[in-house]
Amino acid sequence: MASITENLSAFKKAIPDYVDLVAVSKTKPVADLQEAYDAGQRIFGENKIQEMTDKWEVLPKDIRWHMIGHVQTNKVKYMAPYVSLIHSADRLKLFKEVNKEAEKNDRVIDVLLQVKIAEEDSKFGMDPEEAKKLLSGDQLNKYPNVRVVGLMGMASFVDDEAQIKREFSQLEKIYNTFKESRGFSVLSMGMSGDYRLALEHGSTMIRIGSSIFGARNYD
Ligand SMILES: *Cc1c(COP(=O)(O)O)cnc(C)c1O
Repeated sequence: MASITENLSAFKKAIPDYVDLVAVSKTKPVADLQEAYDAGQRIFGENKIQEMTDKWEVLPKDIRWHMIGHVQTNKVKYMAPYVSLIHSADRLKLFKEVNKEAEKNDRVIDVLLQVKIAEEDSKFGMDPEEAKKLLSGDQLNKYPNVRVVGLMGMASFVDDEAQIKREFSQLEKIYNTFKESRGFSVLSMGMSGDYRLALEHGSTMIRIGSSIFGARNYD
């Protein structure tokens, strides 16, 4: 099996320069993240706030930590001092909480609105129609310490490429509709299994776990 360093360098060669690579390190030990860091990787994605905070405490401070998993409002405070981007903002209550905790820390926190694009039942992400309504209105402007810099979505876990393309294309359309008026710069779309299709549909940020760090035992 190739090493983390080899996997990272293969990825850097395979993706265009304008695409940001988030190394999804959830469940992986600090030594694995340190190896990726030593190979030049600076953006890491985690899906649990406690685990991310434990890693943030011991790893170099120039790492940019991205929260990619479902966020409980009562835990926002633990990551508010340092989180660099929250991919999974999917309800107004969460925007409100992030705004409150960001203000306490004298920061503006960047977030992505997570939109539910998977045709299969998925628990998280805002319904696309609701997302469009929210992006058209002025509700989001009420949170001065939250900056919505783009959108995030996950395709269904299926082999059917046509379906995955349909789902990515739906998010690409919403992104392009609001890109100018909202000043969006980030479309977070694509994982180990489907990042090539995501790049064909305008993704600017891919979230790669197993293809860098190897398979996970649990999630
Ligand atoms: C785990 C996870 C990833 C990475 O998945 P891989 O298939 O291991 O690349 C990407 N995005 C989210 C939201 C995840 O939870």
